[in-house]
Amino acid sequence: MGLLTIGTFAKASRLSPKALRLYDELGLLTPARVDPVSGYRLYAPEQVDQARLVAWLRRLGMPLARIQHVCTLEAGPAAAQEIRTFWAQVEADTAARRDLATFLINHLSWKDPAMSPTAKPLGICYAALSDTGLVRESNQDTAYAGSRLLAVADGYGSQGAPASAAAVDALKHLETDSIPAGNLLNVLEDAIEQAKHAVDGVAGTGSSPEEAGTTLTAMLWTGSQLALVHIGDSRVCLLRDGELFQITHDHTMVQSMVDEGRLTPAEAASHPQRSLLIRALGQGADAVPDMRLHDAQQGDRYLLCSDGLSTVVPTEEIRRVLSEVREPEQAVRELIALANASGGPDNVSCVVADVMELQQ
Ligand code: MG
Repeated sequence: MGLLTIGTFAKASRLSPKALRLYDELGLLTPARVDPVSGYRLYAPEQVDQARLVAWLRRLGMPLARIQHVCTLEAGPAAAQEIRTFWAQVEADTAARRDLATFLINHLSWKDPAMSPTAKPLGICYAALSDTGLVRESNQDTAYAGSRLLAVADGYGSQGAPASAAAVDALKHLETDSIPAGNLLNVLEDAIEQAKHAVDGVAGTGSSPEEAGTTLTAMLWTGSQLALVHIGDSRVCLLRDGELFQITHDHTMVQSMVDEGRLTPAEAASHPQRSLLIRALGQGADAVPDMRLHDAQQGDRYLLCSDGLSTVVPTEEIRRVLSEVREPEQAVRELIALANASGGPDNVSCVVADVMELQQ
C-alpha cells in the first residue's frame, strides 16, 4: 500500500498536522519518508495505530516525554503498566490537591465555635511514649505530645536520633505561638520548612549525611480542629464511633507500588524494602508534606505512631486497645507492650490524644 500524506494521516490518526510536525521533530512519531524535494512528510498506513495511541495518551494528559517512553515499549503488558503507573501518580497528585483544597475551604469558611454561647470548649487529653524495642541498639524515634502539638518522627541513618529530635523541636514553638486566624496553613508550612533546615543541619554533621533524615507526622490543635502535616511512613489513625480509620498515606515505595496495582497490600506488608521512603525530611529527599484539617468531635481519639507499631501489631489489635483502654497514658503503654511482644524489631513510638470537653 502506498504512503499517506500528512493530511490523510492526520485525519486517520485524530492528530493535527501541526502536532504531527512537532512529534516528528521530537522523534516521537517519525514519518516513513520525507520527500527530499518538497519536504512533505509521508506516513505508512501501519503507523496509524501508534499515532492513535499517541492521541489517546495526549487526551489522558500524559507528558510527551512519557508518551515517547510508552511508544518505545512493545504494545502489551509493559506499555499497560507504564500507563497504570502514570495514572496512579495523577490520582495521588489529585488526592493531595483535593486535601489541600478541602483544607483551604474549611479553614476559610470556619466560624469560631467559642463565639457561640452554647458551645462548650473542647481540648485534648494526651500521652506520648517512645521505646527502643528489643532489637535496635538505640532509639531514633521521637514522640511528643503537648496541649496543642502532637508529633512522631522516625529518624534513620547515622544521625537518625538527632534528626528526629530536631524535626520535632522545630515545631515546638507552635505550642505557645498565637496563630492569627486565617494564617494556619502558612504557619504550618513555615514550621515544616524550619524542621527541614533543622534536620539538614543535623544530618550534615554525620559521616554519611545523604542517608540521614527523618519522617515527621504532626497534628496541631487549634481549639476546634486538628491540622495534620505528614511526611514519611509514620501514621495517624482516628478512632471514631468504635471504628479505626487510617488518615495518612504512607510515602513509601511499596505503597506507591500498591497504588499502581503492582503489589497487593499483603505483598507490600512482607516486602523486604517496605520501609524505603519516597518522601522524608533529609538532604536530597522530597519533603513536600501532605496537609489536612480535621474538625474535632468530642470523643474522637487520635493515634500517631511510628512504623515500629504498625508493621508488627495487627490493625484489629490496635483498634481493640484504643477502644478499651480509657487513659491515654495506659493506651500508649499497652500499644508499645504489644509491639515488643511481637519481637520489638524496631523503635516504637505512640501518641494518643482524646478530644474532650474542657473542665472549667
Ligand atoms: Mg521505624
